[in-house]
Amino acid sequence: MTTTKYIFVTGGVSSSLGKGIIAASLAKLLQARGYRVTIQKLDPYINVDPGTLNPYEHGECYVTDDGAETDLDLGHYERFLNTPTSQANNVTTGRIYQSVIEKERRGEFLGKTVQVVPHITNEIKERIQILGKSGDYDIVITEIGGTVGDIESLPYIESVRQLKWELGDDNALVIHLTLIPYLSAAGELKTKPTQHSVKTLMESGIKADILVCRTEHELSQDLKNKLALFCNVQKEAVIQSIDASTIYDVPNLMLEEGLDVVTLHKLKLLNTVEPNLKEWNEFLDRHKNPKAEVTIGLVGKYVELQDSYKSILEAFTHAGAENEMKVNVRSIHSEHINAANISEELKGLNALLVAPGFGERGIEGKIEAVRYARENNLPFLGICLGMQMAVIEYSRNVLGLKDANSIEMDPDTSNPVINLMEDQKNITEMGGTMRLGSWKCDLIKDSKVYDVYGSGTIDERHRHRYEYNNKYKEALEEAGLATTGVNPKTGLVEIVEIPTHPFFVGVQYHPEYKSTVVNPHPLFVAFVKAAYEQSK
Ligand code: GLN
Repeated sequence: MTTTKYIFVTGGVSSSLGKGIIAASLAKLLQARGYRVTIQKLDPYINVDPGTLNPYEHGECYVTDDGAETDLDLGHYERFLNTPTSQANNVTTGRIYQSVIEKERRGEFLGKTVQVVPHITNEIKERIQILGKSGDYDIVITEIGGTVGDIESLPYIESVRQLKWELGDDNALVIHLTLIPYLSAAGELKTKPTQHSVKTLMESGIKADILVCRTEHELSQDLKNKLALFCNVQKEAVIQSIDASTIYDVPNLMLEEGLDVVTLHKLKLLNTVEPNLKEWNEFLDRHKNPKAEVTIGLVGKYVELQDSYKSILEAFTHAGAENEMKVNVRSIHSEHINAANISEELKGLNALLVAPGFGERGIEGKIEAVRYARENNLPFLGICLGMQMAVIEYSRNVLGLKDANSIEMDPDTSNPVINLMEDQKNITEMGGTMRLGSWKCDLIKDSKVYDVYGSGTIDERHRHRYEYNNKYKEALEEAGLATTGVNPKTGLVEIVEIPTHPFFVGVQYHPEYKSTVVNPHPLFVAFVKAAYEQSK
């Protein structure tokens, strides 16, 4: 039996240093050397999952095949590794406590006083080892959210300490990601904040094995030596992580710095296979040497925060590279567009994507945008709420149902073209109660999507409560809005298209969640191609 090796990634000095990207890049290098690797994120907040969080709080909510609503870092893990994640890959403090409290109510602790140590820490350790014990992975990388020293991450740090002791130094190691700030007034890079955060980690009984140092300037060997001495790590375990122009450069930068070699060495994994990054580097080459350029509008209401539409933006990067094209995404706030300014606002676009979303704010702008794309033969892709808006627009402006709406926006509309399913009507809890995760969809042979996917059945991930109302299907189809993808189990409409339009597709699911570096999503690839055709 092979033992699973565990790598923990902690963060010091500052948040937003990119622990997720470092974890994903190391995982990529290990995978490229033939190891089976997965990455897990532990989030110290009390929400049971990020599904109830506003995108302004925490960026996009990423959805896995098994319907888990998760942190957006899982999107990076899947995009880098091209392997699916699941509920087991994202655990929050809320979920840990929920599970411990449920066990307490069932009497499973046999009258004991239930405490943070050992009960919460035991639950954390169990969650960390679930993936390892599945036998599917040689290496599990666990990213601890937050910054060392935070009150809320203490139980996680203690769990890592215990696990490291239980598993032994050959089977578990800690990578500490830290910041080396540059003081321009002094013209110097400073190591003190890092020394302090390593010390904070030490106070909890954890010695960092590897330091990954985020920096805007090259670290000299002298400075690395100093870090090694004062932070108690080997010289070769001080890894520079300099700002990169794209996150997809980070695996190669880590390879140059030897992060994978020092990791394998410490874990006594001495395979000498050179990492195979052929496909990855072919992607990078296409990404960096585009032969043409398109500009696509992204209409949404969270556009101020790039993280809100992370997976969509990354899917454009993958699809752009596949087409050898640079995709410029122009963010357009749906609240700022209306019938009077629409042609001005959308001027110069080669295609338009109407984004997913919740609630009433900004929807009239989205409907106006759909109308503009439909009437002007501008390639259009509507995702989830974007698809629902396309159905509403068509019902209002082509079928003539002036008050057509989704009952999410207007519960009293006489034409609920987007409706709630019977079994959703009595739901009062908000968390985890939407139609979530992977669902099958049958495609109609004579359709754009059939050509795009090159297959008759697809699996795509969902996250929504409201649905296309089949009562209006016949009328909408007769009026020219084709139904080209249907859920074989429930008969729910998943895709609409306008066959007479160069590219007009609305999908109830989220294709962006399944786009990866080596598997760019076919729908995004086709959409970017359509944008290019438009540009000519
Ligand atoms: N608010 C819509 C629904 O719940 C769409 C959700 C989404 O775009 N993800 O059905």
